[in-house]
Amino acid sequence: MSELLPQPEPGPEAAAEFVARHLDGLYRADGSVSPIRGGQSWADRALAALDLTDYSRTRNNVYPLPERGVSGLSPYIRHGLLDLPTVWHQAADAGPEADVHRFRLELLWQEYARHRYARVGRLPPRADGSDRRPGWDTSMGCIEATTDELEDDGRLPGQARLWLAAHWTTRLGRDWREGEDYFFTHLLDGSRAANRLGWQLASGVDALRPYQFTRWQVERRAPGLCASCDHVADCPIDQPAPVPAHEPIDADPRLSHDSDLHATAGPDRPMPWAGDEPPEVVWVTAESLGDRDPALAAHPDLPAAFVFDRALLARLQLSAKRLVFLVEALAELAGRRPLELWLGSPSAALNRRSVAATFAPVPGWRQHAGRINPGLVHPWPWLRRPSAGNIARFSIWFEYHVGVRLDEQPLDALIPVMPVAEKVS
Ligand SMILES: Cc1cc2nc3c(=O)[nH]c(=O)nc-3n(C[C@H](O)[C@H](O)[C@H](O)COP(=O)(O)OP(=O)(O)OC[C@H]3O[C@@H](n4cnc5c(N)ncnc54)[C@H](O)[C@@H]3O)c2cc1C
Repeated sequence: MSELLPQPEPGPEAAAEFVARHLDGLYRADGSVSPIRGGQSWADRALAALDLTDYSRTRNNVYPLPERGVSGLSPYIRHGLLDLPTVWHQAADAGPEADVHRFRLELLWQEYARHRYARVGRLPPRADGSDRRPGWDTSMGCIEATTDELEDDGRLPGQARLWLAAHWTTRLGRDWREGEDYFFTHLLDGSRAANRLGWQLASGVDALRPYQFTRWQVERRAPGLCASCDHVADCPIDQPAPVPAHEPIDADPRLSHDSDLHATAGPDRPMPWAGDEPPEVVWVTAESLGDRDPALAAHPDLPAAFVFDRALLARLQLSAKRLVFLVEALAELAGRRPLELWLGSPSAALNRRSVAATFAPVPGWRQHAGRINPGLVHPWPWLRRPSAGNIARFSIWFEYHVGVRLDEQPLDALIPVMPVAEKVS
């Protein structure tokens, strides 16, 4: 069963009200509201303001906030409001060459995470389930500040994500997948692809050494935090932690070779998937909410349809702020073209319709697409199309997909596969 929902009004308050009224029981009502706004106009504003001056030096700063050099683009990239080729192009003259280079390397990490997840997909469910009650020691200033920011605002710079992930796994000896779920509940950019890779790398379960989180990083990247901490004289992370033994997970043979590249990468041009009816509606998902989404852009006169997957949301119990971000983006979309909003099962809502969609490199999309049978599927805007070769390590993936070794420069030769429209101003 699927029910049609009313159109959300613009703005974060209206989005919060919409979530409370229509998605009751399907999220974690923790009362937190993110200052990050959802919608294409906010994504474009953030991209137009991209300034990479000093990015290399400041990208790992955590506090104070004005010293933080990261772009803050990730929630928009996560939900397809900004695609990687567009961001790549925009970066070209956003700062000195070395900073642009460093930033583009990070975009390639995102692409790499997506390639891995598209190929390997879901992990088997954990037997013990997720408790999502991490029980952090918030008497430590570094833990309190970063978990507060994560839980209240739904954001955290990469450096602080490493701190928490390393503390959780190496020091507290907890399961990295519980930590992954905890982040996924709160992060506005929470994606299985990049979140999972981040936790695997930080915890060392991928057979590399785990990241070591010590007081030294806090003093360097968040000056002032230690001075006001209860543990200033007896810091529990003064010294490196003993490294636990992990079952290496890179033994997964799918990382060495892709036996179904088409399923991983999707079509390389608009392809009929099933049937030959001209599309009557564009199916959009949490991966593809942007105006530059290939299917939305190719069918400007068609309505869009988005389905809140009731069973999925009931299981995930995401923080309300994640849903508010999505609803605000959907409300903006509804201001530009007719939008159908459904609650229920995506296939029940759409499988009798003639649908156009953009391929998404996630298992959930493939599963639903198999039932909805879209008439026309547009290609995912890859920065580099996946190949079938070994992607067990970023350096190996990089050499094959970028065409130079990781330690060779420059990256200018890498032209995104997808053409992009003009720069965002
Ligand atoms: C434990 C852990 C969990 C993470 N979970 C997520 C997640 O759920 N979703 C997510 O998008 N990223 C995740 N990351 C990667 C990274 O921390 C975020 O992408 C970054 O902090 C986003 O902020 P930004 O846009 O200001 O980054 P910037 O430094 O401005 O980077 C620009 C873009 O590059 C990409 N990028 C940067 N660093 C990485 C990275 N290490 N891996 C993959 N892509 C990267 C992102 O798309 C980012 O928006 C995680 C990292 C760790 C260590």
